[in-house]
Amino acid sequence: MDWTGKRALVTGAGKGIGRATAIMLAQRGATVVALTRNPDDLASLSQEIQCETICMDLVNVDAISEKVTSVLPVDMLVNCAGTTILQSFISSNVQDFNHVLNVNTVAPMVLAQVIIRDWLSRGLKGAIVNVSSDAARRGLASHTAYCASKAALDAITRVMAVELGSAGVRVNSVNPTVTLTPMGELAWSDPLKAGPVKARIPLERFLAPTEVAEAILFLLSDEASMVTGISLPVDGGLAIS
Ligand code: NDP
Repeated sequence: MDWTGKRALVTGAGKGIGRATAIMLAQRGATVVALTRNPDDLASLSQEIQCETICMDLVNVDAISEKVTSVLPVDMLVNCAGTTILQSFISSNVQDFNHVLNVNTVAPMVLAQVIIRDWLSRGLKGAIVNVSSDAARRGLASHTAYCASKAALDAITRVMAVELGSAGVRVNSVNPTVTLTPMGELAWSDPLKAGPVKARIPLERFLAPTEVAEAILFLLSDEASMVTGISLPVDGGLAIS
């Protein structure tokens, strides 16, 4: 895939899957606009791939339009930034629930609205990938808000695909299972914890961030020109095991 001449906005580009996606897009010729909230991450990334940057906390959904308008137009959007607050269902509170929903669901929706309005006004087509999770279709203890946010993101993905297909806009999500970002390495380094989960994955291992990034790039690419509205498991077969 050659992305020369294309511009991609990637959120959550400071670390993990978003950073891997930004680097891979840049290595294949795209100009990346990297969005995250940590200025040090943006500085180190822009040294690595010479990207444009937006520093903001996406929980402030009302600020998205103003922050993003100056970098438009872009050809592609990857909504990757995500967060969680671990709480049992019974102790979940509305404030924390809304925080997770704002970052994981409302911000991707608002960002996509800003970009799609720009595409429609310029007569451009484009592709969007929302980074969801296998948690979208599962009930994970202590993940009430996270599971709800990712299920809602998949639902919005489908609505967007239906409404915007006639305008040449494709929208898909990827649904990874455990991915060994730096934080993932820490969380899953104990074989006693990781073993039973890996045992349920037919390919018997967790993911590298680059393996999720490859799936994202495929869905962004013209090779996926007739793929829209799907939630693609990137999970070593966990969804069907
Ligand atoms: P990381 O924590 O490694 O990276 C997330 C990036 O998003 C960081 O740069 C982070 O910045 C940024 N970010 C988080 N919240 C905000 C915010 N409010 N505003 C702006 N930027 C923000 O996460 P992963 O790479 O692991 O996760 C990326 C996506 O993949 C998420 O949506 C996650 O839900 C999903 N996912 C991850 C899985 C995994 O096992 N890792 C499995 C399934 C899905 P900062 O460092 O400042 O917080």
